[in-house]
Amino acid sequence: MTSAKRSSTESEGLDKSESISAKADGDTIYRILKESLEVDWREYVALVAKIRGSGPFAVLVGVILSQNTSDRNSIEAFLNLEKRVGTSLEKILRSDVKEIEDAIKKAGLWRQKARTIKRAAEAIARMGGEEYLLKEDPSRLREFLTSIDGIGYKTADVFLSVVRRAPYFAVDTHAMRIAIRWGLASKRSYEEASKALLEFFGCERAEEAHRLLIALGRKYCRPRNPKCRECPVNMYCPAYRRSDTDKAS
Ligand code: SF4
Repeated sequence: MTSAKRSSTESEGLDKSESISAKADGDTIYRILKESLEVDWREYVALVAKIRGSGPFAVLVGVILSQNTSDRNSIEAFLNLEKRVGTSLEKILRSDVKEIEDAIKKAGLWRQKARTIKRAAEAIARMGGEEYLLKEDPSRLREFLTSIDGIGYKTADVFLSVVRRAPYFAVDTHAMRIAIRWGLASKRSYEEASKALLEFFGCERAEEAHRLLIALGRKYCRPRNPKCRECPVNMYCPAYRRSDTDKAS
């Protein structure tokens, strides 16, 4: 199947009556994914930033760095920024954009990301500082974050689920593909997939389920030739392909 044909099939989506939720609940799928996939926190820049304890703004910096690049490159860029400039709100406010650019080149789109990081720091400082990220109502904070040029829903939702454990499910390309194949979302709408995955897994599991879907997408549920026969949730999946010659859903 060509990629164009695949996109067309995926955007049409699946009949909701064939959704994975008709065969298993979120608890069951979460448990299976957790038991069968290895998730290493050192592979996720938001968690690296959180565990290094530099504060919520540093987590936001890490998530911005991860936009459209691999976690490996964004972690390298984050650690370099930490070493050369610092990742705290104060240090970013005091730094020059050029210094940030030079430190984050490994993350790609470095000019754009350096400006986004600087804009975010200035906007957060105007709201009273880092405390604002910890205390503001999550839905208002999401609006605020997405009003900053360069920060979209995915970046805001990763931040909100990692730092605030707020009821938002971050949807990257893996989660979007899987939500469509599972019949939870019918088209490539971020909000639809995010709400459906949150409802399916529940708020308390949103953050970890997000990482499990990334792991599932990388190992089994690939864009082309998904490894359905080896996939740990194939017995519940409406898009299960019994052989490589079956058409992907
Ligand atoms: S069975 Fe196939 S399509 Fe379904 S989640 Fe697993 S790899 Fe993806």
